[in-house]
Amino acid sequence: MNFLKTIRFHIKKYFIFKKFKFHFCVYLTEHCNLNCQMCNTFSPIAEPAYYNVEHYEIDCEKLSKLLKKRTHKIILMGGEPLLHPELVKFMKITRKLFPSYTTKIELLTNGILLLSMSDEFWQTIKKYNIELTLTKYPIDLDYKKIEQKACTYNIDISYHKGFIGEIERKSYKYNLDETGSQDIKNAYYCKSGSVSVLKYGKLYKCPICASINNFNQYFNKNLERVDADYIDLANKHKINDIFMFLYKPSPFCRYCIVKKNGETIVTDWDFSKKDIKEWT
Ligand code: SF4
Ligand code: SF4
Repeated sequence: MNFLKTIRFHIKKYFIFKKFKFHFCVYLTEHCNLNCQMCNTFSPIAEPAYYNVEHYEIDCEKLSKLLKKRTHKIILMGGEPLLHPELVKFMKITRKLFPSYTTKIELLTNGILLLSMSDEFWQTIKKYNIELTLTKYPIDLDYKKIEQKACTYNIDISYHKGFIGEIERKSYKYNLDETGSQDIKNAYYCKSGSVSVLKYGKLYKCPICASINNFNQYFNKNLERVDADYIDLANKHKINDIFMFLYKPSPFCRYCIVKKNGETIVTDWDFSKKDIKEWT
């Protein structure tokens, strides 16, 4: 029975998450205006940094060619994507390279800046068929007013948690082992491993590996990424090789404490104190 369960798990992870429902995230900014503890992009400790839009266009073109303009979903997020002054360009470029009839594009935000966004922002969301997705946090934000504003542009808001937008009251810890002595095979059970990240010409298998530079810089550590930890889009690849890379553990996985039952450490949501213990 356990054997059958394991087979089912691997089939699901490879074929559903990677091959047939392949989606990738783009971090428009490294930093964020909310600063949740245990953030898996290390945004509370990241220096302000913005994805260069010209570079993004080149990266996105490469992926569009490789994927024949078709993928399950592209998630424009951060850090906090609404902090990027050229956000509208990112939405337009992504839609130009991945048309509506093949690909969902989602803009995932904490919503703090939504009420101050321009007409152009809202019109672009509507015209380019971008799904606006909100994560609600236990903060003082008028979610009703945001919904009303979206409604004036005939836009439906989706929610990251629950159909009507449940407040996220929990923090989920990604437990790092600074010594890098974990068995990388445990990464087959890692939930983060189903979220690929496009960043400056490289495709990473997860947010932790993609953003570890923020952790290293802030805490003066050296959790090392090597070439085998990402796909460099400057090289020629076959798409099946990419799916296989994303499915299998990579050397960096030795830094992650992953339990085989998929359990993670969960605690009440709070602001970050920028303490290394939030991630180790
Ligand atoms: S909203 Fe919270 S979890 Fe999301 S990027 Fe910002 S700090 Fe991280
Ligand atoms: S590096 Fe590997 S084990 Fe760690 S979060 Fe990413 S996929 Fe999971």
